[in-house]
Amino acid sequence: MPLRPLFDLHTHTVASGHAYGTLQENLKEAAAKGLLALGTSDHSPGMPGGTDKTFFENYRILPRELYGVRLLRGMEANITDYDGSIDGGAVMGEMDYVIASLHSHCIRAGSVEENTRAVIGAMRNPCVKIIGHPDDGRYPLDLDRVVDAAKELGVALEINNSSLRPSCRRLRGPELVRELARKAAAKGAYAVLGSDAHIWCDVGNFTEGLAVLREVDFPEAQLLNLSEEGLAYLLRKRGQ
Ligand SMILES: [Zn+2]
Ligand SMILES: [Zn+2]
Repeated sequence: MPLRPLFDLHTHTVASGHAYGTLQENLKEAAAKGLLALGTSDHSPGMPGGTDKTFFENYRILPRELYGVRLLRGMEANITDYDGSIDGGAVMGEMDYVIASLHSHCIRAGSVEENTRAVIGAMRNPCVKIIGHPDDGRYPLDLDRVVDAAKELGVALEINNSSLRPSCRRLRGPELVRELARKAAAKGAYAVLGSDAHIWCDVGNFTEGLAVLREVDFPEAQLLNLSEEGLAYLLRKRGQ
């Protein structure tokens, strides 16, 4: 059976400052690709050139559905220290989900121990449902510990489609995504495919990520994009 992802929760709009699609363009692309739901997840205010908290506060005006696609309110927050602090502020509590990620503009790469502590610390924030691109060789991680913590805390690990493409600035993405997928599969952790689209035509593009998941024979029950239950799991209040 071909794997058919139903949603994309990692997408950016022009509001991020370094992306090239509008929310309307992203939604139309999601509809054209037959997605059930689109999550819009612009960068939190710590990213240079991006938006500020009022942008996220005003998500309340967004329709819950457009063009036949559910519209979900997300944020990609920056991990800012090795304790796992994230910079999304109180408005994170109003999001449907938060992705927490390491970005070079917002945290200096540390040792394996420091980077690992940063990511696991971010997972302890109950707003965080997904760790974005834990596959960047610029931030080496102890992937065994990251996967164990994700399983224990019920946080999904992202299989980031952009990390697998030649245009990506992250280091050793293809190798590290494979390692991440293998370990998540073996340890029973959840994964979620994200396009990390910075232009509308990449919304819902999981081509490279799906190829890796097939290659490692990733268990379908652990890939949240494949079911409405998987989406509901990501949208739940943590700790419930
Ligand atoms: Zn990111
Ligand atoms: Zn992103």
